[in-house]
Amino acid sequence: MDPYELLGVDRDADDATIKKAYRKLAREYHPDVNPDPVAQERFKEVSHAYEILSDPQKRAAYDRGGDPFAGGFGAGAGFSFTDIMDAFFGGQGGAAAGRGPRPRVRRGQDALIRLDIDLAEAAFGVTRELKVDTAVTCETCHGDGAAPGTKPVTCETCGGAGEVAHVQRSFLGEIRTLRPCAACRGFGTIIPEPCRECSGDGRVRTRRTLTVKIPAGVDNGTRVQLAGQGEVGPGGGPAGDLYVEIQVARHQVFTRQGNDLHCTVTVPMTAAALGTVLTLPTLEADLASETSSPDLVTSFELEVKPGTQSGTDQTIRAYGVPGLRGGRGDLVVTIIVETPTALDPAQEELLNQLASLRGEQHPTGQLRAASRGMFGRLRDAFNGH
Ligand SMILES: [Zn+2]
Ligand SMILES: [Zn+2]
Repeated sequence: MDPYELLGVDRDADDATIKKAYRKLAREYHPDVNPDPVAQERFKEVSHAYEILSDPQKRAAYDRGGDPFAGGFGAGAGFSFTDIMDAFFGGQGGAAAGRGPRPRVRRGQDALIRLDIDLAEAAFGVTRELKVDTAVTCETCHGDGAAPGTKPVTCETCGGAGEVAHVQRSFLGEIRTLRPCAACRGFGTIIPEPCRECSGDGRVRTRRTLTVKIPAGVDNGTRVQLAGQGEVGPGGGPAGDLYVEIQVARHQVFTRQGNDLHCTVTVPMTAAALGTVLTLPTLEADLASETSSPDLVTSFELEVKPGTQSGTDQTIRAYGVPGLRGGRGDLVVTIIVETPTALDPAQEELLNQLASLRGEQHPTGQLRAASRGMFGRLRDAFNGH
């Protein structure tokens, strides 16, 4: 592309006109001010054009029809918008104004620890003692990192600004960029005699014991936030938060789905046929060994109605897991009917009599309509769905 055309200037345009034209286009197309990819491409083109026309040798080479980049390709579009504006306006673009020193005092990081609890503890809440390794404020220097009796002093290299200017020569002229001061690592101050206890960091690692109250209803992956219990920040800055992530161990009997609990109970065939009432332990019964609260409901009654089929679900309302925001799930019990095995002669005789009375000596079997039905529910019950 013709650089004159790209910048929209005449072939005999003077340096000031070319500079003005480029400045106008840079304002319009620089990626820092115009994120459109087309504009970015355009910015590269006009920068390239300016690089040719602002350099007398390259411009002359182009005018003769030669290669203006025979002497090597320039740095082109690698400068930021503020760099370019600074080059033109001597620091009004913003970067040369600086961001100032970075503070030595900062907020500490959040911390995450995992806590294994069992299902009853997750459901009904538990108080646990946790050992946590975190950074706490150094008591020797009270967080400022300087040995007792000494103080941080202003950095001589940057005069406390935390930044130093670097000057680069380019086709745009001199470009000043600010970089963090290496002498003070950008802090603007230097600790002449760092505290020996914390090596100047203002904090030391220590192991603390925390008492954490896990609320009722938490589930796998729930994070309990403990505000201000994370690590203390550098320079004695405010502490971050500590998150306790809950991991619930599998229970031998109960599985959890949302706030509902599921379990499976087996009953003898005779009980399923005749009906009975069973008294079974609740999940809360697990807590009875740890606490002696009289409020604990340690058992529930399951009514097995006469003629109960294997795979029948019975829902016991509000015997599930308490919700984190109130309410309580249900307990769903799947009843599995057990066929008697190892019959003795008397039992076999009785069953033969029963079969005879019911006209079942020569059963034909009944093909059932294809559906999830009892079989699907049974399978789901065993798979914990
Ligand atoms: Zn210290
Ligand atoms: Zn410095």
